[in-house]
Amino acid sequence: MKHAKYLALTAGLLASTTAVAQERFITIGTGGQTGVYFVVGQSICRLVNRDSAKTNLKCTAPSTGGSIANINAIKAGDMDMGVAQSDWQYHAYNGTSEYEGNKFDKERAVFSVHSEPFTVIASKAANIASFDDLKGKRVNVGNPGSGQLATMQVVLDAKGWSMDDFALASELKPAEQAAALGDNKVDAIIYTVGHPNGSIQEAVSTIDANLVPVQGEAIDKLVADNPFYAYATIPGGMYAGSPDDVTTFGVKATFVTSSDVPDDVVYEVVKAVFDNFDRFKKLHPAFENLKEEDMIKDGLSAPLHDGAVKYYKERGWM
Ligand code: GLU
Repeated sequence: MKHAKYLALTAGLLASTTAVAQERFITIGTGGQTGVYFVVGQSICRLVNRDSAKTNLKCTAPSTGGSIANINAIKAGDMDMGVAQSDWQYHAYNGTSEYEGNKFDKERAVFSVHSEPFTVIASKAANIASFDDLKGKRVNVGNPGSGQLATMQVVLDAKGWSMDDFALASELKPAEQAAALGDNKVDAIIYTVGHPNGSIQEAVSTIDANLVPVQGEAIDKLVADNPFYAYATIPGGMYAGSPDDVTTFGVKATFVTSSDVPDDVVYEVVKAVFDNFDRFKKLHPAFENLKEEDMIKDGLSAPLHDGAVKYYKERGWM
């Protein structure tokens, strides 16, 4: 009796395992809903899901805290892939900076996407013309788990400052920071993000605000010492209130995964993007100038995932 029940249970389990094996779910970590990572993840999933009938892959891309949250979720096996700034891809793989003692050696690069200038935007009333003017001001430094909060800490360390140098260092999410600037709850916000984006557009449409240049010796040293940082320019006229080009430094947004994610899954995701690349580039203005040959090398420091390499070789790119 007991035995028969066990057999029936086993048969049931087998049936459901077979059903599950046919549909494979992948999760892509993004960022706040008003940022560009969310569009990257949603766009990739849209292309992957068009082929679901063939590949059995079902892709979702929920909103997350950003780079650090995504890398940590992939490392823990809670997510399969995600978007992360090139600086944090590097530090996670090498076990440096925030990742000291917490190395993610299974981290794998897939491709890079758009450039992300380290962007400071201030209300005009606060009279902030340079990064140094932020001293003593109320600044939204980025939500926990975001790339901007982690990179802001790097900038503060480089300058010999700390969070205590601000009258307030708030950690609001991107979706809340524009309103906080508009409501005069903060004087400035920090956001490492592709341009143009909805969050900053929202900020400059509610109050008079200006982009703030991020320059000087400390920044020159960061760019000189680190392959993942470069000077960056936010074009004049992109946002209301900032008619001139603004110089800062920045990173690349990159797409990362783990060596634990099977080759064929990564292959199908990469194939969905690059077989439909013209369509992909139309999904956000920050993707407009992307070039395949740059995307498979720029900003990548972890080894490429084998599934991605397979596709790039097929296309003759490697
Ligand atoms: N660079 C930000 C981060 O790493 C996210 C920007 C975006 O959402 O587009 O958290």
